[in-house]
Amino acid sequence: MTSMQLPGYDAWKLQEPPAAIVVTECGRCGVDLCEGDEVYEYDGDYFCSSECLLDYMERCGYVRSMQLELSDVVSTDWED
Ligand SMILES: [Zn+2]
Repeated sequence: MTSMQLPGYDAWKLQEPPAAIVVTECGRCGVDLCEGDEVYEYDGDYFCSSECLLDYMERCGYVRSMQLELSDVVSTDWED
């Protein structure tokens, strides 16, 4: 299958991967966030995962986890 190899592939795979550039850290757990990482941004802070973002927002009171009750959903002040 040598004919299938792309030119330069051997040279490419022998190279050291470039050192990850730490850009910032997770606003919740503090893990390093590197260039190219897929992160969540909220209000100028960056988070490594949706779990960290959600935990952060929960601590700040922006969201809450709760047991859903029908009365929470049924609103008495419908418009239209
Ligand atoms: Zn995190």
